[in-house]
Amino acid sequence: MKSDIRVCSAWKAEHDRPVYTLSATCPECGASAINSAPAPFDPADPYGEYRRALKRRARD
Ligand SMILES: [Zn+2]
Repeated sequence: MKSDIRVCSAWKAEHDRPVYTLSATCPECGASAINSAPAPFDPADPYGEYRRALKRRARD
């Protein structure tokens, strides 16, 4: 069973904890919301996902 729950892709930069949502964007900061199944960020590169999120927003 696949879940549609997504997590704010920029939560590490924008929030104190992951922000989960069912929509395509974070309800709190407006960043892209990504599938929460895979690890949403690389602990060794805490801003990598944030940079990728910005690129995704630029394409949208
Ligand atoms: Zn957010």
